[in-house]
Amino acid sequence: MTAATVPTVTLNDGNRIPQLGFGVFKVDPAETQRVVEDALEVGYRHLDTAAVYGNEEGVGAAIAGSGIPREELFVTTKLWNTDQGAQAPFAAFDASLDRLGLDRVDLYLIHWPVPARGLYLDTWRALERIAASGRARSIGVSNFQIPHLEALLAATATVPAVNQIEVHPAFPQRALREWAAERGIRTESWGPLGQGKYDLGELPGLTDIAARHGVTIPQVVLRWHLQEGLIVFPKTTSRERMRENLDVFGFELSTEELETLRAADEGRRVGPDPDTFGA
Ligand code: NDP
Repeated sequence: MTAATVPTVTLNDGNRIPQLGFGVFKVDPAETQRVVEDALEVGYRHLDTAAVYGNEEGVGAAIAGSGIPREELFVTTKLWNTDQGAQAPFAAFDASLDRLGLDRVDLYLIHWPVPARGLYLDTWRALERIAASGRARSIGVSNFQIPHLEALLAATATVPAVNQIEVHPAFPQRALREWAAERGIRTESWGPLGQGKYDLGELPGLTDIAARHGVTIPQVVLRWHLQEGLIVFPKTTSRERMRENLDVFGFELSTEELETLRAADEGRRVGPDPDTFGA
């Protein structure tokens, strides 16, 4: 499996993003350089980090040591909640670039809307200026619900390139995804494997589908994300599972299998509620 086999998706600003990448939430900062070096060696070219993960330095060190041309990599980071506002994002963004050792990122996101603070519109306008400076090629949001997106679209000039939200078979968030897609906003799935918080094998039909294709249950789930048109970046610290999670282009789920997975929707959120988180 090589990087060349991962398809790209074109965002509403014309930039392209590899549809499958590698996430580093909860990767120990002391271990991050090794983990990301492994991920790059295995073939990942899209990395998803955030200021709050505390591991941007490790991501940057792995990139610097890899010898991979910068234009072959796609790097996302995110603005933390306490840095929202009209001015604070500029220093927070510079600090992220410093820690990453980069002069630009490919995608910069508002991590959570934190509606109670009422700062996400000002924050978005700051991100628009960062994008205009060329130091973030694309900008987007994360954990935005429809009312937050509605407010943002009504008051500002730039449609977010992506909304990165919790998505896995038991919590597919179809209504939010469809609403966003109609407005040109691509959905990125976080927690694509349910963060290991429930047993994917208990979802109806999943074990049979995996056996039929001779693949693992996580591979079926990642394939589901890809065929649903989602952008996905599972996290693992194991080199073996990095290979497993990237090796999802040699089989295809049938329409019936996708239907079976559709029935797994339990409205089962495993992460925080974006309407209240960070307030
Ligand atoms: P995931 O759904 O990717 O699950 C990660 C868990 O699954 C880990 O415990 C990992 O364990 C395990 N795992 C990974 N691959 C396999 C496999 N093949 N077989 C068995 N177990 C496996 O959750 P994340 O929360 O990490 O989500 C992915 C990324 O999304 C994050 O890393 C981050 O970049 C982003 N994210 C964004 C959020 C936001 O608010 N915007 C919130 C949360 C995540 P092990 O490491 O031991 O393999």
